[in-house]
Amino acid sequence: MNPEHVFVCGHPALDFAATLRARRSTRFEMFGTPERLAAWYLESGVVDALAPCEQADVDRATAVREGVYSLVTARRLGSDYDAEALDLLNEAARQPSAVPQLTQAGRWTRATAQEALSTVARQAVDLLSGPDVPLLKECGNPECTRVYIDRSRGMRRQWCGMESCGNKIKAAAYRARRKSAAA
Ligand SMILES: [Zn+2]
Repeated sequence: MNPEHVFVCGHPALDFAATLRARRSTRFEMFGTPERLAAWYLESGVVDALAPCEQADVDRATAVREGVYSLVTARRLGSDYDAEALDLLNEAARQPSAVPQLTQAGRWTRATAQEALSTVARQAVDLLSGPDVPLLKECGNPECTRVYIDRSRGMRRQWCGMESCGNKIKAAAYRARRKSAAA
């Protein structure tokens, strides 16, 4: 079974960091195969076409992803960056990135997995050095561990997405209330 890639975090670097799901419990890997990694690059809109991915691309991408997650978490909690995570991200960002081309049909970006990874790494650099840092928030579902940009008024958004987490938590709270009312 291939679970669908989900894009709810408000920034590609955050959606990328969230491809290891449920980090504090079951830890589910969304980049299980080179094909799943390629599907992410395409579905995220980072590229329009991709050269075939290999296992080495998965290994590189997951390493950089863990770096991004570490850096996002550090920024969110106001702690120092991990030096190794910084190296991982900056090394990826230094590589040539995917280059959009203009065609009769509009913008078209064809890339290798390495170029696509560089693009995501540069997006992470932009995010972590940009104005949205104070809006980074972890999903209120403790199982979830996605970090998203909360653009709601007063930063009152609680979940990465209603469908992915909000409804689940609300249903659990309702069941708990009903159970305690019955007792
Ligand atoms: Zn969530």
